[in-house]
Amino acid sequence: MKYELETIPIWDTYTTDPHCPLCTLEKKAENTYIGFFLGNSVMNPELRVQVNRTGFCPDHYAGLYNRGENRHGLGLITQTHLKQVRETLSLGKQAGVVRGSAKKLAALLKKLTKIEEQCMICDRMGNTLKRYAFTIVHLWKKDSSFREKYSRSRGVCLHHLPILLSMSQEALQGGEQERFIRTTLELTDKYLEKAENDLLVFTGKYGFEKANESWGEERFALITSIQKLTGKLLKIQYIIDNTTAHGD
Ligand SMILES: [Zn+2]
Ligand SMILES: [Zn+2]
Repeated sequence: MKYELETIPIWDTYTTDPHCPLCTLEKKAENTYIGFFLGNSVMNPELRVQVNRTGFCPDHYAGLYNRGENRHGLGLITQTHLKQVRETLSLGKQAGVVRGSAKKLAALLKKLTKIEEQCMICDRMGNTLKRYAFTIVHLWKKDSSFREKYSRSRGVCLHHLPILLSMSQEALQGGEQERFIRTTLELTDKYLEKAENDLLVFTGKYGFEKANESWGEERFALITSIQKLTGKLLKIQYIIDNTTAHGD
């Protein structure tokens, strides 16, 4: 498959040395698409037909609403999508039919799952992420300065590791592919180990006798570890907890 190269966002992201460049890039793409679906172009008739048919997943409906912009537009696209969902499910008509038929109930369950899984934002993010993964592999292959930067990066999270490994299969061959995979796995493991060790320090600090110790990098260990495991970027939050107050 042919992918469009997008070298600038890749270079920019690697320059900031994140825990997972694909997490950062995915989050940016997500913000862009949420803005897009709250903008005027969503009123374009062709796009409107697609939105009516596909809609958004629970996370992205929440993301669209929580942006706090253009409630009128979001109301319009949600109303026509809801109308289409009702037509597809025709719950009222099925009420008598589904009862007593395992096959018909299974078909209804399938439709309900599909409605929740379909998402125009997830679809677009998926395509964008493939382009980014392709560009990373391509730059690693062609540009020695990027290859060097890559070897000093923190690898990727476990959520994004599969897309990078699959892309190496598509875009690299033989010894090059082996080298790319080895570097990627070693880096990822190195920083998973760091996250694990930092988390050990982090949890160790929750003992009474260490309550006054100052925090180092391990203060971020929990959010970094969760990101490394799931690909979710969490915000730093300070919990007020009298039994474990650390004065930060
Ligand atoms: Zn990631
Ligand atoms: Zn989604």
